[in-house]
Amino acid sequence: MTEKIFYLDPERYKDRGEVLEIKKKDLLGILLDRSIFYPEGGGQPSDRGIIKGENWEFSVLKVIEEKGNIWHFGELKGDLPKIGEQVFMELDVSLRKEYSQEHSAQHLFSAIIERDYKYETTGFQILPEHTKIEIPLSLDINLSYIKSAEEKTNFYIREGIPINIYWENENKRIVEIPNIDKNPCGGIHVKNTKEIGAFKVLRVYRKNSQFWRIEFTSGDRLIRRLEKREEEYEYIKQKLGDPNILSALDKLINKLSLLEKENKKLKEEILDYKAEEISKDSLETSLGKVVIKKLDLDINTLRILTLKILERITLSFLFNNSGELILGRRKEFHKEIWDKIINILESRNFKGGKGENLIQGRVDNIENIIEVLFQEFF
Ligand SMILES: [Zn+2]
Repeated sequence: MTEKIFYLDPERYKDRGEVLEIKKKDLLGILLDRSIFYPEGGGQPSDRGIIKGENWEFSVLKVIEEKGNIWHFGELKGDLPKIGEQVFMELDVSLRKEYSQEHSAQHLFSAIIERDYKYETTGFQILPEHTKIEIPLSLDINLSYIKSAEEKTNFYIREGIPINIYWENENKRIVEIPNIDKNPCGGIHVKNTKEIGAFKVLRVYRKNSQFWRIEFTSGDRLIRRLEKREEEYEYIKQKLGDPNILSALDKLINKLSLLEKENKKLKEEILDYKAEEISKDSLETSLGKVVIKKLDLDINTLRILTLKILERITLSFLFNNSGELILGRRKEFHKEIWDKIINILESRNFKGGKGENLIQGRVDNIENIIEVLFQEFF
């Protein structure tokens, strides 16, 4: 069993220990006789940091408790640790502080929404950028309650209430914010609510028909988040060239949609010209005017073009370099011949969609099919 220094002395961020065992999984695992590293559990991720031996340094990425043993998993630089070797360990203190703030903020906020609004918390997880909790509720959540609970959370943070932690028995560790919350919990918390600093709900949304999710952050993470948002805001302001980013953004979106419309109109016009040009170049056959042409255009453009060509001539067969084709006819084009052409396409492994007067898809070896069509019909 590893001695759990993270419980006995939660503010010990550096310590010494002895290697009891090592094992190789995806990552190397080191078991020590004592540990300052909190293992993941109860929604709180594990601590990170380093362990150093005589000729090696190990970065701790994940810590797991297995039957009372605390295993440190991570990446090793240098020699393999030796059993019985004395080591030095050091926590990533800022990460530990963030987790403690987020976790304590959760106790406080969850207690308030349950006490005042009867919203129970059934799930909790600290994520890299924020923390989330889950509320079982099929009805709509009341956002003004959430706002009030946020204000109350910040009130209790400023009040500076001590957070008491004690073992009720060997297996039951109690975390208590006097008169507000009392819960069994194995995680790491701050000593006083004022250490949480500040609390902010970020997002409230329905997860599914049974649950709502609330995302929040607190303390150091909240400051970091604000710094990032400020940087982004400055960037946007500069790019837009206007301190009033909302109206500038609206203007930009309007302008974009006008340009899109204009662009669409111009494309239409170009396709009209193209259809005219292609139609002039059509073949006079016994079946009427026919267009057969390979064009370097995507299938959607080919379809629009086909419709325009069919305003002028009776049969159009356009295809592109990727083997995609559009075949279209005017109603007056012989139905029998149309069906025969389709039969030929189908005999060549045609895949696609067929309408009454338009078919779209791909076949094997288009060039060869065209030869066959000429021989048979034109
Ligand atoms: Zn807790």
